[in-house]
Amino acid sequence: MTPKTLGEIAATLGCVPVKHPDRVIDSALTDSRSLTSPESSIFFALTTDTDDGHRFVMQMIEAGVRAFVVNRLPEGADPDSADFLIVRDPLESLMKLASAHRALCTSTTVIAVGGSRGKTLVKEGLHRALSTVAPSTRSPRSWNSRVGVPLSLLRIDPATHRYAVIEAGISRRGEMQTLADMIRPDVAVITNVLPGEHDEGFASLEEKRAEKMVLTKGVPKVIAPDYCTSESFNGRLCAEVLAAIAPGIDTPPVMPPIRTRLDVTEAVNGCLLISDRFTCDLQSLEPALDFMARRRTAQRTATLLLDTSADFSADILHRLIDSYKIDRFIGIGKIFREGAEHYPAGSLIFDSAEECLNSLSAADFSSELILAKGEPGGAADMIAERLRSRHHETVLEVNLDAIIHNFNHFKAMIHSGTGIVAMVKASGYGAGSYELAKTLQAHGAAYLAVAVVDEGEELRRAGITMPIMVLNPKVTNYNSLFANRLEPEIFSFDMLGEIIREAEKRGIKDYPVHIKFDTGMHRLGFLREDIPALGEMLRRTDTVKARSIFSHLATADCPDLDDYTLGQLQLFDDICTEMTAEIGPGFLRHILNSAGIARFPQWQYDMVRLGISLYGVDILGIPATSELRTVSTLRSIIISLKKWPKDTPIGYGLRTVLDHDALIATVPIGYADGLNRRLSNGTGHVMVRGTRCPIAGNVCMDACMVDVTAAGADTAVGDPVEIFGEQMPVSEVADAIGTIPYEVLTSVSPRVKRVYYRE
Ligand SMILES: *Cc1c(COP(=O)(O)O)cnc(C)c1O
Repeated sequence: MTPKTLGEIAATLGCVPVKHPDRVIDSALTDSRSLTSPESSIFFALTTDTDDGHRFVMQMIEAGVRAFVVNRLPEGADPDSADFLIVRDPLESLMKLASAHRALCTSTTVIAVGGSRGKTLVKEGLHRALSTVAPSTRSPRSWNSRVGVPLSLLRIDPATHRYAVIEAGISRRGEMQTLADMIRPDVAVITNVLPGEHDEGFASLEEKRAEKMVLTKGVPKVIAPDYCTSESFNGRLCAEVLAAIAPGIDTPPVMPPIRTRLDVTEAVNGCLLISDRFTCDLQSLEPALDFMARRRTAQRTATLLLDTSADFSADILHRLIDSYKIDRFIGIGKIFREGAEHYPAGSLIFDSAEECLNSLSAADFSSELILAKGEPGGAADMIAERLRSRHHETVLEVNLDAIIHNFNHFKAMIHSGTGIVAMVKASGYGAGSYELAKTLQAHGAAYLAVAVVDEGEELRRAGITMPIMVLNPKVTNYNSLFANRLEPEIFSFDMLGEIIREAEKRGIKDYPVHIKFDTGMHRLGFLREDIPALGEMLRRTDTVKARSIFSHLATADCPDLDDYTLGQLQLFDDICTEMTAEIGPGFLRHILNSAGIARFPQWQYDMVRLGISLYGVDILGIPATSELRTVSTLRSIIISLKKWPKDTPIGYGLRTVLDHDALIATVPIGYADGLNRRLSNGTGHVMVRGTRCPIAGNVCMDACMVDVTAAGADTAVGDPVEIFGEQMPVSEVADAIGTIPYEVLTSVSPRVKRVYYRE
């Protein structure tokens, strides 16, 4: 942010006097992980539903931060160790500071972007176009909330920024007024508000639209077209905005989506590679370093590989390298020569891409977490390519932003006090549990649920600290269960007796367990008539404690069986009442799965268990779940392409005989990868160049053939093939072979590499 003195900030917040009024502050933080320049930072300790920023104050003092906005002096903090501005609500203070700062930006045109879809794209598009004529700033990433907006506003430099593009997103009623008051836009742009999304904390689409239009109240220029969503929508909207505020700027005719993709892949010699193929500037470096910091473990040192011709400030780069504790820096570009003595020992600077590519090979890296950042096809990208362990043609791509989107979508749907148990069993429904767990931990899930102890153990080893419940704990290793704080599901008296004995042996008290009741699924669980004996057993021991009481619905996704579901729900309610009489009220209650949350929200109790919908699979086709984003995409490429005349037989057993002259592609994915063999001979389709193409012949173990005639004569070797994902819904693949999306997702074999990315 533009530097201010601590005295000025304190005066704005009504907290004078302070001990060090002259301290210069140039960074406002709400997340301890974004710390880069401790002495000149001020930390706002925000309290959210799931976390309390005051927890991090001591750690921030240790890191050198000397200014805090808090609602109380944190326990154990020495009041002389820093300036503590004590306020009623630190979030309110952050907004107040941002408002005051906004008032100073009189020569900046502030453009607010609200609406539903495409906000981020429109924001990026406007910023890019405006930057070509005058200095412009924008909200980073999707900082659009009550926290993101003030942080974005504080980044406006009134002296240099001619334009500021600020994104405004809301998830609940009444929020927009708060954002509008802060932003006080000169121009308000509303992207379209779409039908089919009115469940997000709003009673109706009209109500949501009305709420979004609050952003435009009293604003001199409003651009809120009602043309409907289409490929060209974002581009058209940008052009309209630009014509209104800065006539004469060339809008690029098409605005391609701007993707910064952070891919994570395993690499040679025990390295883990994060590659960010995008222009390399300081603004995008920090989020990438942040992403990297969250993946650090003791087993790997951290290496930053940068390739750029952009103008880097050596000072800031040194500070980032320092604060993110980078062990080795590799710079490609003369620009990095300046101040090279400040880089960590073992760092390398190359003047040119050529020099770098001639000197570095994969063997120069070992047990490192490597962030490679640079333009596509540049030296960093090419080194990254050398580091990827095997060249995988078939990958399961996992979009972490989509997970966050889906999680937040449900969060906005349920009561603010209801916790979400994120189901990451079966290796995260096939997507891989660790990366998902990291992401969900950071976004405030209440619990993770895994199927077996091993999965939980693995998450702990990888640094997941949040509560984990284990659903099928045939526990053979109680040492590991207790040591890893894994909370088992208990579904029988035998199990309960066993864990009590094991806890007793070790002198463990109050170990949290989750008591499962069978209310109609008829799989596992105590029955209602077990309650007196169960109550007695729990009362008599102090080794374990019922952390929650839960049950599972058998028919939540079957509208024709709603009577059955309601019977289960009612029985569960009675069970909870009776259990409260037995052991008191100190347990959490939960019964809803994804379909239950969407269809029976009035039964959400203290927690809900979110599974399939977290992965963006719409199993219901109702508005509540129609806005989910696809998380997993299974893709491969064409490795061979041949023209065959009509009547040619294809594959094992000659089961497909062409009934037309056809272009047949071979794709390296077979049933050993999880491509179900029942999809053979035209039963299944894949997407090639946006076209549905039938599988030809029998699916082989490691490959299949696809009739790509319909994809056009331009189809070429190397073209991507989507098996399922955004274009080919996993539910369609499941339907084709008479199974459910769950089975298709969890059948992708472990040999298929998972690639995680954020947009
Ligand atoms: C798998 C599972 C869920 C999640 O179900 P979805 O239909 O994927 O939402 C919830 N609860 C239990 C006990 C489960 O085993």
